[in-house]
Amino acid sequence: MITNTSGEQVVDAWALAASDSRRFTSAPHTWMSTGRLGLRLGDDLLDNTRRPMLRLVEDTSPGDHDLLIPSCDLARYRQLGVEGYHDNCRDNYFEALAAAAIDALPFLPQPINLFMRVPIGRDGSLSIHPPRAAPGDRVRLRALDDVVVVLSACPQDLAPTNGIGRAPTGVDVAVVDTESRP
Ligand SMILES: [Zn+2]
Repeated sequence: MITNTSGEQVVDAWALAASDSRRFTSAPHTWMSTGRLGLRLGDDLLDNTRRPMLRLVEDTSPGDHDLLIPSCDLARYRQLGVEGYHDNCRDNYFEALAAAAIDALPFLPQPINLFMRVPIGRDGSLSIHPPRAAPGDRVRLRALDDVVVVLSACPQDLAPTNGIGRAPTGVDVAVVDTESRP
């Protein structure tokens, strides 16, 4: 369960198979399965071997979740004029896995960008809009496999990713054991 405590905060999310980090949530395989580019209540997120990994079982937000935009990284902040270091989702991903002593592949899988609002125009155009998630909005992802989930509260503060003029914030995360509560 991921709660958007302050509202408007985008969360990059990934899942890896606990037994094999070469299997990870894959946006393209998920598009093929759901028949759309976004994510809706009840959708399964597939891994790169087309096995279901996570299911979106609860969503109190307006339902904007992006599967198209790559994670922010230092190169993106360089493009935006940052000269020194800037926290970024790419580094957060690798640091989290290193802290957990998980030997991951050396590339960054496409993230599931929870609460990120990226409307697709009729001409196929993409644009990043401020999120509509309100304080307290939450999503619940059910693990359909034995997975490791990595989350990064996106530190983007130079684009409207996390709202206009809004400082990125943390989110609340809870792991709910449903073994005894089907
Ligand atoms: Zn980010």
